[in-house]
Amino acid sequence: MEHVQVLIAGGGIGGLSAAIWCQRLGLSSLLLEKTDALGGQIAHIHNEIWDFPPQVYPDGAALLKDLLAHPTIKQLRPRLGETILSIDVENHLVTTSHSVYRADYLIIATGVTPNVIPALEGCSRVLSPWFSTTSQASTIRGQDVAVIGGGDRALEGAANLSPHARHVYLLVRGKQLRARSEWLDRISAMPNLHLLVETQIDTFAEEDGRMTLNLRSNLPATPRSISVDWILPRVGVRGNSQGFDPLDTYDQHYLVTDCNQVTGEQWIYAIGDVANGSAYSSLSLSVGQAMKAVKHISQQQT
Ligand SMILES: Cc1cc2nc3c(=O)[nH]c(=O)nc-3n(C[C@H](O)[C@H](O)[C@H](O)COP(=O)(O)OP(=O)(O)OC[C@H]3O[C@@H](n4cnc5c(N)ncnc54)[C@H](O)[C@@H]3O)c2cc1C
Repeated sequence: MEHVQVLIAGGGIGGLSAAIWCQRLGLSSLLLEKTDALGGQIAHIHNEIWDFPPQVYPDGAALLKDLLAHPTIKQLRPRLGETILSIDVENHLVTTSHSVYRADYLIIATGVTPNVIPALEGCSRVLSPWFSTTSQASTIRGQDVAVIGGGDRALEGAANLSPHARHVYLLVRGKQLRARSEWLDRISAMPNLHLLVETQIDTFAEEDGRMTLNLRSNLPATPRSISVDWILPRVGVRGNSQGFDPLDTYDQHYLVTDCNQVTGEQWIYAIGDVANGSAYSSLSLSVGQAMKAVKHISQQQT
C-alpha cells in the first residue's frame, strides 16, 4: 500500500495551491483529480476575472494557462482520472477508483457540482450546467429558453440571454427572488422576459426539438404549460463531499471545518468551495485556505 504524507483530493485552484504550499514547506504530497484535466471550475469561467488581484484575466482559460505554467505545477505529477471513493478515518486509509493509500494527512479540495432538476431527467434540451450566458448566448438566438432558479446566477443568466432569445421564461419555485437588487432592476426592464414565481416543472414532452413544459402552480395567472427550445437550470450547487461520509456537513453537503480548515478528524482538512458553499465561493478564498491548511499541517510536524 502506498504511503503518502499529504494526499490532496481535487485539482482545482484549491488543490493546486495546496500542492504549491506543500512543496514550499517541505512536505511531500500527491494530488488526485477525478477528471482528465487540472483546473476544476476555472475551465468554465467565461467572464472577466477582476477579483483575483493583481491581474485581471479575460476569462478562466487565461488564468489556467498562467496557473499551469507555475514551476511547482509544471513539475507536479498529479494522478488524473482517479476519484476518491471513501475514507477509513480510524486507519488513515483513502480508497480511490484505482488504489488504496495510507495518508498522514488528507486535504479535500473537491469543489462543487451544479444541482440537477429531477423532473428533467432524460430531457435532451437541457443546457449544460456550465453553459456560459456571456460567451455562448448567441447560440440560442431567436429561440425560447426557460431559466430555472431565483438566485443571482439564474437572474444573471436570464438577463444575459434576453437580448438574444425570443422569449425567456424565468421559473422560480419560491414566492420571491433571492437575487441582488441590481439583477431585479435589470430583468424588470426586459420586455421578452416572463417571470413565473411559485412555479415548478411537473413533466415535459419533447417534439421536433421543442419542449412542452407542464407547470405546477397555485397562481391562477400562471400558464399550465409553456413551449421552449432550451432549458437552463440555475438551481445552485452542492459540495462534492460524497465518499467522505463520516465527516460533518452543512447546508448543501458542504464540509464543516474549524478556523484552520480541520474537519472533525484531525488528519483531514477541507478547503475551497467544498467547505465554503456558494456564498463564499471564490478563487482567492480557496487559495488562502490552501495556505492555511498546509501551514497547519506543517506546524504539526515540529
Ligand atoms: C462560471 C463561473 C464563474 C466564476 N467566476 C469567478 C470569479 O470571477 N471570481 C472568483 O473568485 N471566483 C469565480 N468563480 C468561483 C471559482 O471558480 C471557485 O470558487 C474556485 O474555482 C473553487 O476552486 P476549488 O479548488 O475549491 O474547486 P473546483 O474548482 O471545483 O475543483 C475541484 C476539483 O476536484 C475534483 N474532484 C471532485 N470530486 C473528486 C473526488 N472524489 N476525487 C478526486 N477529485 C475530485 C473536480 O473534478 C475538480 O477538478 C466562478 C465559478 C464559475 C463556475
